[in-house]
Amino acid sequence: MKLRLSDEDARFRDEMREYFTTRFPEHIRAKVLARQELSKDDIVESQQALNAEGLAVPNWPVEWGGRDWSQLQRHLWHEEMQLAGVPIPLAFNASMIGPVIAAFGSEEMKERFLPKTANLDIWWSQGFSEPDAGSDLASLRTTAVRDGDEYVVNGQKTWTTLGQYGDWIFTLVRTDPDVKKQAGISMLLIDMTTPGLTVRPIELIDGGHEVNEVFFEDVRVPAENLVGEENKGWNYAKFLLGNERVGVAPVGTTKRWLADAKEAAGDRLSSDPVLASRVADLENELMALELTALRVVAHSAEGKPHPASSVLKLRGTELQQAVTELYVDLAGPWALASGAGDGSSAPDWARVSTTQYLNYRKASIYGGSNEVQRQIISGTILGL
Ligand SMILES: Cc1cc2nc3c(=O)[nH]c(=O)nc-3n(C[C@H](O)[C@H](O)[C@H](O)COP(=O)(O)OP(=O)(O)OC[C@H]3O[C@@H](n4cnc5c(N)ncnc54)[C@H](O)[C@@H]3O)c2cc1C
Repeated sequence: MKLRLSDEDARFRDEMREYFTTRFPEHIRAKVLARQELSKDDIVESQQALNAEGLAVPNWPVEWGGRDWSQLQRHLWHEEMQLAGVPIPLAFNASMIGPVIAAFGSEEMKERFLPKTANLDIWWSQGFSEPDAGSDLASLRTTAVRDGDEYVVNGQKTWTTLGQYGDWIFTLVRTDPDVKKQAGISMLLIDMTTPGLTVRPIELIDGGHEVNEVFFEDVRVPAENLVGEENKGWNYAKFLLGNERVGVAPVGTTKRWLADAKEAAGDRLSSDPVLASRVADLENELMALELTALRVVAHSAEGKPHPASSVLKLRGTELQQAVTELYVDLAGPWALASGAGDGSSAPDWARVSTTQYLNYRKASIYGGSNEVQRQIISGTILGL
């Protein structure tokens, strides 16, 4: 394996770095670098800035705004964004429903949705999981019954991330209850302002509002909002979930967090050998993950996620959680100042340490829980 970038790829990386660090809206980067929460407006502004530069949806087909980049270039784009503190494009739009519509939607559906999806003029939510259908997604029970030119949808989704901002929700619904469970599922696009659709917040341990429950009571959806063919939704869902795991190891962000944690530790790194060795271990582990990510990129067949992306998800989220834990330990008693306002004498990084630690417990659950990734690794990579 070659570890050095070719001149062309190094130039590409420098171009990305130059745009992200000097021309991207500075006030948004400042918030990300201070590990503050972004508002809906920040996220929209950020994606629109990227889209104006052709940097929001490089993985899409070229005719819909994609770039004909190599897997390595996509990887560099993704890493440089994270290192610079640029929010990555909203995953629901850019890496989930966009590619599905581009691959399986009708021409009309593509024209109607893709430009607005790339530019975040439509904010998409993901309506897959249900109270008894998470890892075992095919058990979902939300029904859609055809009635003339419409489907009538009834049921409940849960854990809908940022659903409070959602304009539209892409859902999996049961359209045939009498066949094998995977064979009776369809994918429907639903306008979240349709009567009968309710979004209810779920209260989180970190005090934030990030996830929701979504209820459907006789929600009438035009049949033209069906993606592809009726009862073929499982195929589209598998395609979507495969993309979800690509680029899932947040190496760039975790590297930045770790570098900042070292700064926060200051002199303690030289006076506390246990702390120093903990930081060194994390740095080594991150470097190993970075090299693994590059190896996966180098061996990915065009457009197909490599099974080793499960290793990246698993290890990437473990390290992300380890670094959030390091911040809490560094903060010591200040970690109790979670959520303290501007008058607090605790440093800014310490004031967010506990909320961030608690929030990132999620990382090993969403996008396919880490236990399920271990099953994939044992079956498809280790052949157990
Ligand atoms: C913060 C957050 C945001 C989310 N956002 C969204 C969203 O926007 N849209 C959406 O549709 N969903 C979303 N999800 C849902 C997420 O995809 C599910 O939580 C996830 O798939 C796990 O499903 P579950 O919660 O039903 O747990 P379960 O599947 O019930 O799992 C419970 C436990 O059993 C383990 N387990 C399950 N099956 C196996 C197996 N085969 N082998 C070994 N262990 C197993 C799991 O790993 C877990 O530890 C989100 C979840 C979280 C936490």
